[in-house]
Amino acid sequence: MLKIAIQKSGRLYEDSVALLKACSIGISNGGGRLRSVASNFPLEAYFLRDDDIPQYVEDGVADCGIVGENVVFEKNKKVSVEEPMGFGKCRLSLAVPKANYFGGIGSLQGARIATSYPHLLRTFLAKNNVEADIHEISGSVEITTGIGLADCICDLVSTGSTLISNGLREVQTILESQAVMIASENLEAGKREILDKLLFRMRAVNRSKNHKYILLNAPDDKLADIIRILPGMKSPTVLPLAASGWSSVHSVVQEDRFWEVIEDLKANGAEGILVVPIEKMVV
Ligand code: ATP
Ligand code: ZN
Repeated sequence: MLKIAIQKSGRLYEDSVALLKACSIGISNGGGRLRSVASNFPLEAYFLRDDDIPQYVEDGVADCGIVGENVVFEKNKKVSVEEPMGFGKCRLSLAVPKANYFGGIGSLQGARIATSYPHLLRTFLAKNNVEADIHEISGSVEITTGIGLADCICDLVSTGSTLISNGLREVQTILESQAVMIASENLEAGKREILDKLLFRMRAVNRSKNHKYILLNAPDDKLADIIRILPGMKSPTVLPLAASGWSSVHSVVQEDRFWEVIEDLKANGAEGILVVPIEKMVV
């Protein structure tokens, strides 16, 4: 049985449970439960505060866990980072009051900076030869400049709307972060095998999110051009249509190239283009 630590509530909880569910593994902390055993996979979930997850994994109380890179690097525990999870994306950034002039990182010399990430901030400042006065606080960092506690903040940002509504301006990114799977450094062989199985499923699910299945009709004399546009996983599937002189072409396209590919296909004579989501993708 593999023990996995998951945030008990907050920004990572739902995406973590949804990813496991997409891997056909059902767990839930319904009714504030601390533990949940999956019915069809040798996995037991512990629901914890995200800040505690690296410590539990280092100690081997949990074998693995899903937590933001920001927390992993801040806590600096002896754990192995196994795999990005594709959600919980954010950045750790410095922000100053909107009206204040910001003359580069050097201008933070002697400034009071409020943050919940003192280790990451200290490392960043040291690398830039800046000595500042770091105020560690555990929450609501964004209000500290307004109440005169700090000149600058170092906090997590995703859309930036929290900064704007507090009259702050983002001036420097310190770390780009997303949720990752971490694991104990010395997992016994049986647990390692279960974790590898789980990561294999997660990869298949995450890969499928970035791809679409595409079907289209093409006149046979345009097939060569259309196949060149559609590389597919190996190469596209081509099937004859009942109408002579026409074929149906099936392939897989990366989401980020998607519209570009569709335009190219149309320009090269493709018709009746269908795009279908993919549930799992194993390569
Ligand atoms: P806990 O009660 O578990 O300690 P928390 O309040 O520390 O929860 P959340 O706000 O739920 O944590 O954030 C959890 C993680 O979500 C962060 O550590 C970060 O990795 C990620 N995250 C993604 N976007 C944001 C954002 N805009 N602000 C804060 N965290 C974000
Ligand atoms: Zn936390």
